Amino acid sequence: MSHTRVIGFHYTLTDPQGKTIDSSTDGDPMYFMEGSGQIIPGLEAVLITLKKGDKKKIDVVAENAYGEREEENVIEVPRDQLPKGDIKAGDVFHSRDGHSPPLTVVSTTDTHVTLDANHPLAGIDLTFDVEIMDVRMATQEEMEHGHAHGPQGHSHH
Ligand code: ZN
Repeated sequence: MSHTRVIGFHYTLTDPQGKTIDSSTDGDPMYFMEGSGQIIPGLEAVLITLKKGDKKKIDVVAENAYGEREEENVIEVPRDQLPKGDIKAGDVFHSRDGHSPPLTVVSTTDTHVTLDANHPLAGIDLTFDVEIMDVRMATQEEMEHGHAHGPQGHSHH
């Protein structure tokens, strides 16, 4: 019998200027399994103390969110190591394994492209307005997969 919980919550994420970065409120709540690393640690630490129906404003400093920006994550690579085609500042490359952070093109020259591997939200203090929509026990399948599967534990990824 599992004692690991799955929590579903709605959130609106804003930056220090009050600009909305992301929100779940137009769709399904976001689900995560306790201790699985599915969401940022600074958010999980507070969410697991709440109960269904609770609303809270949670401030998460960059260090406990997507980390500080690291200048060594800005790298210059020869163009011939990148996919062919037109590459311009602002383009984003996603890694094939899906685990490495996306690479954002900072600038280009005829021979090289400068890429930023910092998470787009690195170095930014975040504020989450959350509402807890659901708290339930993890299903067997979720325990085996190590992540939450949504409202009833059926929907997958
Ligand atoms: Zn799964």
